[in-house]
Amino acid sequence: MQNPYQNAMAQLDKVAKMKNFGDEFISRLRQPDRDIRISIPIKMDNGTEKIFEGYRVQYNNALGPYKGGIRYHPDTEINEVKALAFWMALKCAVAGIPMGGGKGGITVDPKELSKDELERLSRGWVKKLSDILGPHKDVPAPDVNTTPEIMAWMADELAKQSGYTVKVTPAPHQISLKYSNPEDTEWLKNFGAGFTGKPIGNGGSEGRGPATGLGGFYVFYALRARVGLPEKCKVVIQGFGNVGGNAARIFSEHGHTVIAVSDSKSAIVKEDGLDLEQVEAHKKKIGALRDFPGAKNITNEELLEFSCDLLVPAAFENVITDRNAGKIKAKAIMELANGPITPEADEILFKKGIPVIPDILANSGGVTVSYFEWDQNLKGEHWSEQEVFNKLKPMMEDAAQKIFQKAQASKTYLRMGAFILALERIKEKSKN
Ligand code: GLU
Repeated sequence: MQNPYQNAMAQLDKVAKMKNFGDEFISRLRQPDRDIRISIPIKMDNGTEKIFEGYRVQYNNALGPYKGGIRYHPDTEINEVKALAFWMALKCAVAGIPMGGGKGGITVDPKELSKDELERLSRGWVKKLSDILGPHKDVPAPDVNTTPEIMAWMADELAKQSGYTVKVTPAPHQISLKYSNPEDTEWLKNFGAGFTGKPIGNGGSEGRGPATGLGGFYVFYALRARVGLPEKCKVVIQGFGNVGGNAARIFSEHGHTVIAVSDSKSAIVKEDGLDLEQVEAHKKKIGALRDFPGAKNITNEELLEFSCDLLVPAAFENVITDRNAGKIKAKAIMELANGPITPEADEILFKKGIPVIPDILANSGGVTVSYFEWDQNLKGEHWSEQEVFNKLKPMMEDAAQKIFQKAQASKTYLRMGAFILALERIKEKSKN
C-alpha cells in the first residue's frame, strides 16, 4: 500500500490532468515549504531520559499563516504528516478561510505516558519549534489524541519561550498556567492566538469541540438529496473519538438512525439504532464499545462493509482501499477522517456509483471554528456558541454548493471538484 503522501500526490496528479493549472504551480505544490523533524528529550517520571521524534510540516501559506493540528500516535511519521499538511492547505482554501496548511505530530502512544510526562513532551515540542510558531506564522490545533488541555500547555510554553511575563495575576482559569492570562488582550493576541482548540477558560472558542462533527452534518444536509440519500438515513460511523462521537450524536439528534459505531478496539451494530447516550456511558464504564447490551460485536472490516445509507469513516487514513472498496454497500460515504479512501478505492467507488463527500470539505468545520477562535483572540472578543454555529453553517453550505458545481462542470466526482476549487483559490494568491 502507498503511504499517505503518495496518495495525496496521486490525487494532485489526477486533478492536474483534469484541469490545466500550469506545471510550475503543480510542481510547487509537490513539496512543502518546510518539513521539520525534531527530537524531544523528556525526563520520564522514573528519572530516566527518553527521546521522542516530532514533526512540523509547513506546506503552503499563500492564503495565510500555516494552520493544522498536531497528532500523537505510535504510527505517526513524516510522510503521514506531509500528506495531512497538504490536505490542510486545500481544506482551508475550500473552507474559504485566510489560512494556509500545516500539520505536526509526535511518534508516541500517549496512553503510555503519565499526565506530567505528556505535559513535558508537549512543552518540549513547542520549545524546539517556537521560532517558527505564532499567530501570524503557524497556528497548530488538536488532532488525533491531542486535547484542549495540551493546546493550553503549548500556548503557555510559547509565551514562556518568548520571555513573556503575565501582566495581571491570572484568575483561576480552566487550567491555571504561569505564562497565560486570557484576560490580557496582549497575551491573547501574541500567544493565545498561536494555538486553537484551547479550553474555553483559556481563550478557546465556544463550539470548537463539536465543530468538525457539526460541520460535517451541515455539509451532509446541503448535499443529501444531491447524492441520492433519503431524508432519514441509516448511518454507520467508524471512530468514536471527538469527531465520530459528536457526529454520531448530532446525526441521531436530527432523526437519523446510527446503526453501527466503532473504536480502535471494537465495533458494534444494532440495526434498529443505537442509543448513543447509553453507548457513551458503556464506553466510559468498560473502556471499549464491545458487548454493548442489545448490539452485536463485529469487526472494523465488517463495519465498513455493512449495508447502510451513509458510511462515515471518522478515524484514520487508508481504511478503504482497493481491497475492500468493491465490497462497500453504503449508498454514499462522507469522510470525516483525513484521507480514509485511497485513490484506487476512489476509482472503484466512482465506478460503482457510490458518491464520496470528501474530507477536505466534510471535516473542514473544525478548522473553520479554529479560525473563528484565532479571530476572536486577535480582536479580544468572545462569541456565543450560537454565534459560532450561525457563522459556521452558511460557510459549510456555501463550500458544499460550490464543490458540487465544480464537480458537475468538470463531469467529475466531488473530491476532484473540491481540489479544483482549492487549487484555483491557492493559485490566485500564490506569489513568486
Ligand atoms: N486537526 C483538524 C483537521 O485535521 C483541525 C485543524 C485545525 O483546527 O487547525 O482539520
